[in-house]
Amino acid sequence: MAEDIGCVFSESRRTIMTTDYLAQIKVVLVRTYHPGNIGSAARAMKTMGLEQLVLVDPVDFPDSQAQTMAAGASDVLDNVLVVGSVLEAVADCSVVAACSARSRGYDLPPLAPRACAERLLTAAVNGPVALVFGPERHGLSNEDLQHATHRVLIDANPEYSSLNLAAAVQILSHELRQANSSSTVQVTDARADLPSAESLNHYFERMTKIYSATGFVNRAHPGELEKRLRHLYARAEIDSNELSILQGMLSSVDKILHD
Ligand code: SAH
Repeated sequence: MAEDIGCVFSESRRTIMTTDYLAQIKVVLVRTYHPGNIGSAARAMKTMGLEQLVLVDPVDFPDSQAQTMAAGASDVLDNVLVVGSVLEAVADCSVVAACSARSRGYDLPPLAPRACAERLLTAAVNGPVALVFGPERHGLSNEDLQHATHRVLIDANPEYSSLNLAAAVQILSHELRQANSSSTVQVTDARADLPSAESLNHYFERMTKIYSATGFVNRAHPGELEKRLRHLYARAEIDSNELSILQGMLSSVDKILHD
């Protein structure tokens, strides 16, 4: 498409005092097994001033155990959004931080909880961002991590590093509150216009399709190029203008393929 090809280079840099961006932050729980953990997570969020809970394909919800464990945070459960995929949950988000006790196989920028809170708040100035937590038994799958831009690791006992789901939510929510209420913290937003997970996903679907047609995508490992480039772009934190350039490059290859 012609509009993809010509694009304007711009750099935006804004310095903003944090006020209250906690409401922009979505807490996403993926395939939660115990409904009690959903309630405890809602309580952990509300005590720290977070409101937006999104459940991806929960095993048992709604459930009385969730209500019991939420105690006075039942309003967070009442406003919960239940969706069928991680992409649906984070489609409009620019920064998607995935919490995982394991680091193997993922080449995403790693963040400690404090740095994660600061990164999320910085981006929340411009729109929705997400913090994603995995299921109790096996954590987040490679597929769940596809749309993540950062990985968060809570430092813990190397011999027993897996926290209870709601405890992990509590730690991150507390860091977010601290970062949000710190009057000395200035949020310098160098990358004001980050693309949403949905627009990045559209780019990657198109990239895989076009480079499959040229034969560049390895038929034996069709997802490998996409995975590597997703991580590369996440590390580079490409902005919307840069994504337009990449879309333009795809358009020019697509044009040759169809001429
Ligand atoms: N057995 C799973 C852990 C599940 S705990 C595994 O090995 O991955 C449920 C969720 O809590 C995890 O998916 C993760 O989102 C979060 N979590 C627990 N411990 C964590 C840690 N040390 N660092 C980051 N996230 C953690």
